[in-house]
Amino acid sequence: MVAILKHMDWYGMPESMEEAVARFRRTPKPSPASVVRIIEAWAECPHWHSSTYDTLVEWRTEDKKLWRSSSHLYDRMTNRRQDWYRNEALRVVAGASSIIFENFDMSQTARVEDENGEKTEIPMAARHNRVIAAPSVLREAIKLQADKRQIPIKTHRGKSTNKCSMCGSDMDSDNNRGQLHLTCKSCRTTMDQDKNACLTMLKSVAAE
Ligand SMILES: [Zn+2]
Repeated sequence: MVAILKHMDWYGMPESMEEAVARFRRTPKPSPASVVRIIEAWAECPHWHSSTYDTLVEWRTEDKKLWRSSSHLYDRMTNRRQDWYRNEALRVVAGASSIIFENFDMSQTARVEDENGEKTEIPMAARHNRVIAAPSVLREAIKLQADKRQIPIKTHRGKSTNKCSMCGSDMDSDNNRGQLHLTCKSCRTTMDQDKNACLTMLKSVAAE
């Protein structure tokens, strides 16, 4: 559409279109909104270059349809995820005497650059999963179900993933980015990093 308008001879255009057209021609990369502005101004005198006008209107109708169906799809996907999280939350709280959350900032996992503008080392897979899964939504679902059943929620404030749950030393996570299993640099315990994190959290909360 932009191409059609770029090559359009605007000579003799109706006055009501002048402002929208001028704005369109000023920008090197016109936005869809600027095209829509022209269509709206054009609607007041649709007989001027009517075939081009009709083409634009057709494009806009089709474009609106696409937007609607993609947002519909997104809503459906979000609802399904919500259902699934609710069920998982029920499963998690069933039979639990307390729930322990690790207190880390979920927004950090979305950062591509740190405060100094350096690229963060979050593995691509983790970043991708975060976008699809919205972990903070799952956390909220678990919290809700735990609250309903008056199951106490505790927060673990230390770093759980990089510390060995057996001896407290560092795990070899620095040269093992993206690996599921980590090995303790000191006692050589090898464990799934999530299991290790859970054991660390259990120990620290039990010690409170
Ligand atoms: Zn260890």
